[in-house]
Formats: sequence, structure tokens, C-alpha cells
Amino acid sequence: MSEVNGKVVIITGASSGLGEAAARMLALKGARLVLGARREERLKALVEAINADGGEAIYRVTDVACREQVDALAEAARDAFGRIDVLVNNAGVMPISPLNRLKVDEWERMIDVNIKGVLYGIAAVLPTMRDQRSGHVINISSVAGQVVSPAAAVYSATKFAVRAISEGLRQESRDIRSTNISPGAVTSELTESISDPRTAEGVGELYKLAIEPDAIARAIVFAIEQPGDVDVNELTIRPTRQPL
Ligand code: NDP
Repeated sequence: MSEVNGKVVIITGASSGLGEAAARMLALKGARLVLGARREERLKALVEAINADGGEAIYRVTDVACREQVDALAEAARDAFGRIDVLVNNAGVMPISPLNRLKVDEWERMIDVNIKGVLYGIAAVLPTMRDQRSGHVINISSVAGQVVSPAAAVYSATKFAVRAISEGLRQESRDIRSTNISPGAVTSELTESISDPRTAEGVGELYKLAIEPDAIARAIVFAIEQPGDVDVNELTIRPTRQPL
């Protein structure tokens, strides 16, 4: 039986893309899921589909930029299942553009969701995991958290931060596993928030080689499936044809 079976897994940003794919795959392996995002209709439909298929899932509408809502998501997990085994800090946004466009509101949004959202997630689950003397935090960074490219300075900064947070958590924890996953181009709704037309065009070209979200879902499953004394710390998953 899979090591995933019976584990209580919280996934943020579960209403589309990587988070949704991970939820579906983990449900098939017997995880008990607690799904968060802002779009309720999407979450509701996903939870209904998982439960109709014999899986076990609940949802709670959550804006990860709001600490109280992230705390409430963790509380929903404890209320429903009595523990928290895994947090997948997946929610993220990528409205990229060159710095000289001065899209400061979008910079702030990326910092709030991609960095603060990840930290709020960790704050919400860490006391429970410490009490349990076990737990696993999986943060979704990016290849943009390893290399910087034009128009992606702020997004990259947030994803470098995610890697730093993952590594810091790893160093500080003896009982809690920390996994940082850095995807390359993956088909999802992520690029839809790019408001700068030239940037959107360039990203559209790159994403012609994008791979499916299941590739990342498999990596998440792989990290969770390892025995408790094995901590998969870093995974980078690109399309084979992606140059950078
Ligand atoms: P999607 O846009 O398809 O999914 C993003 C998810 O995050 C959605 O479920 C969205 O749900 C949620 N989200 C956005 N803002 C918030 C918020 N404030 N509070 C709660 N949830 C929020 O993109 P992906 O699946 O691609 O993105 C998932 C992660 O993967 C992100 O962290 C992204 O940076 C990362 N990534 C993606 C890559 C790619 O090529 N696709 C490459 C590298 C990393 P809702 O709108 O309902 O709140």
C-alpha cells in the first residue's frame, strides 16, 4: 500500500493547474485532502468529483494572502481529520513584466501570494506538525527560482525566496520534511494573468513546449511516498525541450 494512503494533505491553489492535478492523483492513492483556493465553484466541483470516485476530500475557500484564512484552512484539516501530514504550498501568481513598466500593484500581489502565502501556510501547520513530531511541507518554487530572466525579476525574487524558505525549514527541522519543487513550463492558467502584451507574447512562445501538470503531481507523490526518514529536498522538472 502507498505511503500516501491515509495521509492528511492540504493543498493551496487546488482549483486549477498543478494543485488540481496533485489533488486528483493523491486522492487516487488514498490521501485525505483539504483543498484551498479562492474560486469556490472550482473547489466544490473538484471535491465532488474526488468523493464520487471513492476518494476523501473537503475544501475551504482560502485567500493565501490573508493569514486568518490560511489558519482557518489548517483548522479545517484538524477538525475533519485530527492531524496534518503534508502541506503543499502551491498557490501562486505570475503577472510578469519588465521593471520599467512600474506595475507595482502586480509586484505586491506576487510578494503577497508567492512569499507571504507560503509563510502563512508554514505558520498554520508548524505547531501541529511539531506536536505530532512529524510532517512534510512541499513548496512549489520554479525554475525562475534558480535563474533570472528579463521581465521576471519580481516573480523570480519570490521563487528564490520560496527556495530559501524551504532550505531554512529543512535545516531547522528534525521531524518535519521539506521539499522544494521547481517546475519549468507547465500547461495551466498561470500565464493568463500577464497584463503586459509583449511579455505575454514571449511567454506564449516558450509555453508551446509546456508539459502537463501531471508531471509535477507525480513529483509531489514521489516526495510524499518516501519513508519518513527520507527527505526529498529538491526536484527540478522541466520539459525535455526547455532550454533555460
Ligand atoms: P494556475 O494559475 O493554474 O493555478 C494557480 C492556483 O493558485 C489556482 O488554483 C489559484 O486559485 C491559486 N491562487 C492564486 N492566487 C491565490 C490566492 N491569493 N489565494 C489562494 N489561492 C490562490 O497555475 P499553476 O498551477 O501553474 O501554478 C501553481 C504553482 O506552480 C504556482 O506557485 C506557480 O508559480 C508554480 N509554477 C508554475 C509553473 C508553470 O509553468 N505553470 C512553472 C513554475 C512554477 P484561485 O484563483 O481559485 O484562488
